[in-house]
Amino acid sequence: MSNSIKEKVEKWIRPEIRALKAYHVPDATGLVKLDAMENPYSWPEDVRREWLTTLQGVALNRYPDPEARRLRERLRAALAVPAGMELMLGNGSDELIQIVLMALSKPGAAVLVPTPTFVMYEMIATFTGMKFTGVPLTADFSLDMPAMLDAMARHKPAVIFLAYPNNPTGNLFAPGDVVRVIEAAPGLVVLDEAYHAFAGQSFMDQLGKYGNLLVMRTLSKQGLAGLRLGILAGPAPWLEEFNKLRLPYNIGCLTQASAEFALTHLPLLDAQARQIRQDREQLWQALGRMRGVHVWPSQTNFILFRIAGRDADEVFEGLRARGVLIKNLNSSGGALKGCLRVTVGTPDENAAFLKALEAAL
Ligand code: PMP
Repeated sequence: MSNSIKEKVEKWIRPEIRALKAYHVPDATGLVKLDAMENPYSWPEDVRREWLTTLQGVALNRYPDPEARRLRERLRAALAVPAGMELMLGNGSDELIQIVLMALSKPGAAVLVPTPTFVMYEMIATFTGMKFTGVPLTADFSLDMPAMLDAMARHKPAVIFLAYPNNPTGNLFAPGDVVRVIEAAPGLVVLDEAYHAFAGQSFMDQLGKYGNLLVMRTLSKQGLAGLRLGILAGPAPWLEEFNKLRLPYNIGCLTQASAEFALTHLPLLDAQARQIRQDREQLWQALGRMRGVHVWPSQTNFILFRIAGRDADEVFEGLRARGVLIKNLNSSGGALKGCLRVTVGTPDENAAFLKALEAAL
């Protein structure tokens, strides 16, 4: 029985899918969770109560608004999307990447990204049967412009993803380099601004100036990771095509109502992001003072660091044994060999992490 299932799986499932490893999310039960770039803060009690009152009015028996019209209008204002640009929502920005690649995956079509970067670009390129090219960043994690331009000329990518700032390196690419990529790209450029709240720089106001530029945002890093809401903004001719691939009710009514509510409390979200940015600086300085740790500057809500003179896997396990879960990037190899990534938590969580790291080193 099980043999025949295995044979059928091998016969019918695409080989590149069988070769994949599923995206692994480790169990964080009982641990200080600093592995996933979540915002550590919830809302004050009165705001939570107001939110729950709003949810009471939601009709769960009805399908949600398939176009999420009211939410999109609020987002347009909150994100300062330029007039004349369109906006599409996804179940997290992950889903938007998937929709874009489904629309572009003609036979032989290619995706190009600088590496290391967010792993889902490559995974979804594989899901959608696209060719994937990674162009290594320079030693200081800048775009390697000659290599990027050369790879663009050779592979003629249908799309280039630039995470701005980049994950897991934490830096913003030079704006002039980004513009050169947009101008030289034969196809689309998606600027993924997932960490915008901690960087303060954006290409949103450049939308429309370049016909091949789209900007992507998410509410995940601003305290709403559980909602799953990603936003893609850009010229209507692109978004009208992508919208055909979006499943009609991809944004549930609880997400729509909760996000609309959250957007009426923007000062609260902004204050939390400001706090995280301040705490990032303290954490960064404390990490920089530790012997055996090399730390990179960050424009995000996480910090990348390298362990010198010790096995990074051991240090990672030592942290976990002391109750702190961060992200181990050592096995990614290349520029990330020996690297770990910590999300900025509350001051208490950051202190617990630093104490555990000192003990684990
Ligand atoms: N883009 C980047 C650069 C990310 O790091 C992440 C999350 N780690 C995402 C997109 C996905 O975000 P979402 O929760 O909106 O799917």
